[in-house]
Amino acid sequence: MESVIERITRGRFWDFHGGIHPPEQKFLTKNKPIKQLPLPKQLIIPLQQHIGREGDLLVSIGDHVLKGQALTLSTNPMVVPIHAPTSGVISAIKMSVIAHPSGLSQLCVFLDVDGEDTWRKREVCPDLAQLSNHEIIEKIADAGIAGMGGAGFPTHIKVNSKPDIKFLIINGAECEPYITADDLLMMEQSNAIVDGIKILDRLLTPTVILIGIEDNKPKAIQALQQATKTIDKIKVCVVPTKYPTGGEKQLVQILTGQEVKSGRLPIHDGIVMQNIATCFAINEAVRHDTPLIRRVVTVTGQALKKPQNVWALLGTPVNFLLEQCDVENIDNEKQPVIMGGPMMGFSVSSELVPIVKTSNCILVPSKTEMPSAFEKESKEVECIRCGQCSDVCPSQLLPQELQWSAKAKDYSQLEKLNLRDCIDCGACAYVCPSQIPLVHYYRIAKAEIRQQQQLDLKAEKAKIRFEARKLRLEKEKIARQEKHKKAAAARKAAMNKATPEAEGAKSAVAAALARVKAKKASKEQTSTVDSPSNSSADNVDDQKSQVAAAIARAKAKKKLKEASSEKPITTSETVNSTVEVKATQTQQTSPEDKKAKIAAAVARAKAKKLSKSTDTTDKASANEESTEEMSVQKTVNSDDKKAKIAAAIAKAKAKKLKNSANISDAEKQVDDAPIQSIVNADDKKAKVAAAIAKAKSKALSKANAKIAAEEKIEASESANNSDVLPIGATDKKAKIAAAIAKAKAKKKLKETNTIEENNQDGV
Ligand code: SF4
Ligand code: SF4
Repeated sequence: MESVIERITRGRFWDFHGGIHPPEQKFLTKNKPIKQLPLPKQLIIPLQQHIGREGDLLVSIGDHVLKGQALTLSTNPMVVPIHAPTSGVISAIKMSVIAHPSGLSQLCVFLDVDGEDTWRKREVCPDLAQLSNHEIIEKIADAGIAGMGGAGFPTHIKVNSKPDIKFLIINGAECEPYITADDLLMMEQSNAIVDGIKILDRLLTPTVILIGIEDNKPKAIQALQQATKTIDKIKVCVVPTKYPTGGEKQLVQILTGQEVKSGRLPIHDGIVMQNIATCFAINEAVRHDTPLIRRVVTVTGQALKKPQNVWALLGTPVNFLLEQCDVENIDNEKQPVIMGGPMMGFSVSSELVPIVKTSNCILVPSKTEMPSAFEKESKEVECIRCGQCSDVCPSQLLPQELQWSAKAKDYSQLEKLNLRDCIDCGACAYVCPSQIPLVHYYRIAKAEIRQQQQLDLKAEKAKIRFEARKLRLEKEKIARQEKHKKAAAARKAAMNKATPEAEGAKSAVAAALARVKAKKASKEQTSTVDSPSNSSADNVDDQKSQVAAAIARAKAKKKLKEASSEKPITTSETVNSTVEVKATQTQQTSPEDKKAKIAAAVARAKAKKLSKSTDTTDKASANEESTEEMSVQKTVNSDDKKAKIAAAIAKAKAKKLKNSANISDAEKQVDDAPIQSIVNADDKKAKVAAAIAKAKSKALSKANAKIAAEEKIEASESANNSDVLPIGATDKKAKIAAAIAKAKAKKKLKETNTIEENNQDGV
């Protein structure tokens, strides 16, 4: 079977699926040498011009920088530094529109060119033998080289591949219409390119090196064949022109016949591919210590008077390039400016968009040349399912289904349809009769998926960090517990040892425990003595006794008042009472008399008890009340006398009362009540006593009225029977006199009767 090398040597290659043959339009620039442009006034240098992350800034506003001086520092393999393309002053570091289909902004260094174009110090290395592979790779990384074919992948990573490399493929196909940058570079810099290929050969040590180049570049083919004629390892492979032959997987398949499967990279199959421009940049960096600060750009299109390839400094604004190529209607807002070729390029939103490491073409078409670029409104219609897009897709995808899923934002379906294998070649859109901008939909969907993946990655990293922290904390906790356990065991063991130190430790512990116990006992005592509950109970008792004493004193006073509030005994009443007492002495002892006596005894007893209880209460009271107690006792003693008098009066009056049953009952009740009762019972007694006194008062009033009526009768009788003083102003005296006379008469009559009886007895 024919080997791959034999087949290549004989010039027989393979083909890839699909592809198209659009008008080349390369004649505009292919025969013009690369032009050196004057320095622009200002360069706008984006910090990130590759796949990966931007580096850390090394300069500030106002800094003067030299040509080739690093502006950022690489701190990560995926970070590629940028350099000053010429000497000048940093005038600003701010966000600015960059070369991106979405027109997004990015942090850029604004360099005001001083026109001197002064280089920093460089170390030229004409002999590569002086450098190790590591040093060569380091030089490539420091030069900020990234894939210049459009991908922008960091070159130092790609050339540091460890697996066995069978094929190193140099991509010189440059299949996209209009673009001739690589073609001119191969024509003008073939030896430098081959020197770059030699560096790669040393680093990667491939079995064979294949330079793939389309047959529409005869001068370039000739130049490379001339430059490699002494190197057997390098084969210049002229392949048929077909778009997109320049695609990585497509060129691999054409040159080697190997199809790189979905989800795999050529490196997985022992294949590394580098762009022609990248090879040139590698040689510049390694041999001449020149970082990547410029590149060849095809500025083309029928809207330009002077379309040509130029050496453009990175950061050169698009409008400067258009000025240098005499754009016809640059002030026309409708004039489209496309960065890249007509198949894979995108319209720039501003003419200040700068040239970056992956920019290979600026296309400024005329309206007749590319009418679709001037249309403001899309002419897209519904898909007619013609299937032409599938027929031309070099990745063998289903473009029509991809666009449906992209419109529906069905990312899982896009994953199933292998959207990741789409190389944005635009062949499908080129053939679509419905004029559906298929690549536009794919790019939006890819950006959204990339964003979602980044979010998922962040979430996953956060989850991993959380789990790691949780695990660490648990380990630390377990370690602490183990440490404490060991320390406790060590202490216990030390105490159990019968050493002076252990004894000392024991006694120290015992002393500490004793102190704690003593403290606790002292606290308990203090709480018992000074317990707020006890003291409050005492206070309550004290308050109760004081209240009881106060109640008793108040009762005594009330009693005294009641006694004193009784109707004062007038002289006439006293006399009458005396007369009545005397009169009653002659009478036999009646039940009323007994009741009166009992009432008098009850009153006296009450007075005594009240006096006693007051004394008792007063004694229990505080010392500061002793003076008041004595005065109360005196009052009670005097009240006792008064009570006795009142009792005597009541007794006398009771004799007069025939219907004093109520009084007797009340007295009985009082008499029957326990004298030794508690203070609360005394209150009731006091009320009863008050009722009795009230009843007595009423009865006394009635009795007085009755006595007065009797006296009137007696006075009238005496007036009729004897010469008695008439009733007038001396009424009371007359009454008394009449009573006395009546009593005397009764007494005399009694005595007379007695004498007569005695005489009769003596006869
Ligand atoms: S080429 Fe256009 S119209 Fe035809 S199937 Fe594809 S998307 Fe639909
Ligand atoms: S743009 Fe994508 S889907 Fe369309 S032809 Fe190219 S690879 Fe296929």
